[in-house]
Amino acid sequence: MKLRRHPGRRALLEWLDGAPDSAELDEHLDTCEVCAARLMDLESVADEPSLQAALGAALAPPSDLTVRLEEGVKTRLAARAVFGVLADLYVTGWETSKMLLTEGDQ
Ligand SMILES: [Zn+2]
Repeated sequence: MKLRRHPGRRALLEWLDGAPDSAELDEHLDTCEVCAARLMDLESVADEPSLQAALGAALAPPSDLTVRLEEGVKTRLAARAVFGVLADLYVTGWETSKMLLTEGDQ
């Protein structure tokens, strides 16, 4: 089922914000150049990283919705993994420094 009319600005913003039950919007935005252009305009007022990510996914080269969603999940998982590694490095470095300092005192 496809939307017969272009979604409103609020609907686009809600979609960017991850509104649920947006399968129809997804399908429409996936094929509508007019709405793609409007999303580009909205991008200029959207500073949140989540919105930028949503725009990147929405305006990516042609792909079906399932692939887009999977890529979005992978991106989030990758970001979490990087953060986790950095956190581990930080903690490890701190523990090592503390150990070295302790040994130096003794
Ligand atoms: Zn449209």
